Amino acid sequence: MGAITVAIVPASPNQTEPAAPDWCDLAVVGGGILGLAVARELVRRNPRSSVCVLEREGELAAHQSGHNSGVIHAGVYYRPGSLKARLCVEGAREMYEYCLERGVSNEKCGKVIIASKPSEVPRLEELERRGNANGAPGLRRIDSLHIEEIEPHAVGIAGLYSPATGIVDFQAVARAYAHDLLESGGAIATGCEVSDVEVKARSLALAHARGGTNTGHAIFCAGVWADRIAVSAGADPDPRIVPFRGAYLRLAPERRHLVRSLIYPVPDPSLPFLGVHLTRRIDGDVLLGPTALIALARDAYRLGRVRYKDLRDTVAWPGTWRMLARWWSAGASELRHAALRSALVRLAARYVPELRVADVQPAFVGLRAQALARDGTLLDDFAFSQTERALHVRSAPSPGASASLAIARYVVDEAQRALGLER
Ligand SMILES: Cc1cc2nc3c(=O)[nH]c(=O)nc-3n(C[C@H](O)[C@H](O)[C@H](O)COP(=O)(O)OP(=O)(O)OC[C@H]3O[C@@H](n4cnc5c(N)ncnc54)[C@H](O)[C@@H]3O)c2cc1C
Repeated sequence: MGAITVAIVPASPNQTEPAAPDWCDLAVVGGGILGLAVARELVRRNPRSSVCVLEREGELAAHQSGHNSGVIHAGVYYRPGSLKARLCVEGAREMYEYCLERGVSNEKCGKVIIASKPSEVPRLEELERRGNANGAPGLRRIDSLHIEEIEPHAVGIAGLYSPATGIVDFQAVARAYAHDLLESGGAIATGCEVSDVEVKARSLALAHARGGTNTGHAIFCAGVWADRIAVSAGADPDPRIVPFRGAYLRLAPERRHLVRSLIYPVPDPSLPFLGVHLTRRIDGDVLLGPTALIALARDAYRLGRVRYKDLRDTVAWPGTWRMLARWWSAGASELRHAALRSALVRLAARYVPELRVADVQPAFVGLRAQALARDGTLLDDFAFSQTERALHVRSAPSPGASASLAIARYVVDEAQRALGLER
């Protein structure tokens, strides 16, 4: 199959196409990879119901799903028994099958996690234990010679090799989900930001930028805006989303040979989302990053962007101050990495010593929807909540894209159970 094109209800003010529907049986708010996967699953299980995705931007997968590392995670890191562990292993397997079936380019290129000092070796052993408990396929411990065989320019004292980790363009996957949805009779309306949710006797009224849609039930997959829309539907404000800005660098084309596939550090188990990695992309680019800095706007792709409402929500949340008090030292080093390209490159050069500042250039920025509890705990697992006639995805961090098919199945199972959707 060639490039997948998706015809959607456009956002143009002069549109001649039909507007967002006045009514649908099942609405999904958010046209990222999760919203589209959920809508696709809904339409497959409820072929007689009308399903519609309402997306605020003019295009699909415009936020996290289109600005990430593009890694199909195999399930190594996560606490055994967690949703992440289960859904990542299942989801990654399904992702490879889906890409094969739909002709989406991907590569099971493998990943090496490298310990660069003795104090990291026990954590590497713990990762191996977790990965095996989770059922991550083919994990094996490797020594420094094997590290060099797999990644000739990398060094380390010990490593963990995950052959089932791979790469894909998740935006292309999201487009394929959208295509499946439309083919099965679902609808997608872009430029359709949902601003309010009103519970009626037998429906929900969603007010949005293109009027309003009444729906029997709704599933909200709003990424970095998930807390705001959940609260407007009557959900608990805990957890709040605090946006983290992750900037990537890319290796100059003539230096890409320094990285064959994926080179990762041993993560700090309390801050697993930190850690600069070297990632080959499916288009051949090699990324270095990302940084992780609290953003002053939920769409702070530009460094100077500040949105008063976003800033106020972050600052007014007690969890923000508790998190900062606890993690100020990690925060300070992240600030240094974000401010000084040389500091970020030095960090990556622990694993690939030939790397120089002159080898890199700015690439792109991703805005991470970090769910933060009132007590300052950074939510690590996937989290959901329920309101009248609705389910909300409250936290779907990495490996949310890898696990999207499995998360969609889980969410629709929950919707059938909790909302009484037709089976
Ligand atoms: C820097 C970074 C790197 C990552 N790397 C990886 C990786 O390598 N592998 C992996 O598996 N995962 C990775 N992830 C995680 C992955 O990207 C997310 O888990 C996944 O994209 C979440 O999908 P989503 O649809 O929930 O969110 P999003 O893609 O953010 O989509 C949410 C959508 O909801 C829309 N929306 C919000 N509010 C409204 C509203 N009120 N009305 C209508 N629409 C609304 C938004 O416009 C957006 O399109 C990474 C994330 C980041 C930030």
